[in-house]
Amino acid sequence: MERITLGKNPEKFLERAIARFVEESPGNRRKVDGGRYWDAPLVGFASGDDPLFRRYKKIIGQFHHTPREIFDLTFGKRKNPVELSVVSWILPASEDIRRSNRKEGRYPSLLWAHARDFGEQFNVKLRHHLVSLLQRKGYRAVAPMTSPFWKQVRSPRIGFASTWSERHTAYACGLGAFGLSDGLITAKGKAIRIGSVVTDLPLRPLEKIYPHHQANCLFYFNKTCKACAARCPAGAITSKGHDKERCFEYSYGVVRRDKMKEYGVTITGCGLCQTKVPCEFGIPKLIQKTYHTK
Ligand code: SF4
Ligand code: SF4
Repeated sequence: MERITLGKNPEKFLERAIARFVEESPGNRRKVDGGRYWDAPLVGFASGDDPLFRRYKKIIGQFHHTPREIFDLTFGKRKNPVELSVVSWILPASEDIRRSNRKEGRYPSLLWAHARDFGEQFNVKLRHHLVSLLQRKGYRAVAPMTSPFWKQVRSPRIGFASTWSERHTAYACGLGAFGLSDGLITAKGKAIRIGSVVTDLPLRPLEKIYPHHQANCLFYFNKTCKACAARCPAGAITSKGHDKERCFEYSYGVVRRDKMKEYGVTITGCGLCQTKVPCEFGIPKLIQKTYHTK
């Protein structure tokens, strides 16, 4: 298929396409009250051969795909490898969803659970939308999370994991840095969902402005914050970090058992550690002043 040029700035083209879909798609409208699940997105890019993706094999596990692995699995391996790019986006939870979760201390709010279930279904549509848009322009593209090659893995070293981490991909695309709770703290905060696509459209990587992988968290910055730990009803966050097993048992066990029917969802999430914390809607001000205004 003939490739259609996306102009001088294909990154802008994709940013606009993602933003428009978030703005206009009926899938981003809440079933209960017509409000939005997600506000305007952040979009970032990385080279498919960014060395971080190989390092994830050591950090997460050998099972974690590099962009090239998932691309080759999807489209077949070629003798002459083509340049690959990764597109990642952040969907920030809308203000009223975050506000509703701030008020909670034991279970996520109804709006939060709806965002986790129906809002993520919209995120799946967004992945499909971007893949098909790129295909229509003559490029190959795959969304690793919706690929038949994606699977969950129980790693002896790190517990619950999978063959593609949206958070680590967003980090590689320059969109944020990790907090004590393991969430990605972005310029639009930590109350987010993430998506990504791998494509053979050449794209300019976004500059990585965060000085290290925990740069946006006040705990690692100067030890003044453990607000996410105090918010966690399961005791899953401590100075040592995030206990995935405990979090999973609470979010997918206790909350699901107690709230799934009432809320009318199949998955509730929890996200109490993502709201009523200093990194909920942005990078904490002190860190911004120190790192980002030079
Ligand atoms: S609440 Fe505080 S300690 Fe927890 S991730 Fe955010 S900045 Fe870090
Ligand atoms: S999602 Fe819920 S259970 Fe998991 S760490 Fe955050 S507050 Fe704790």
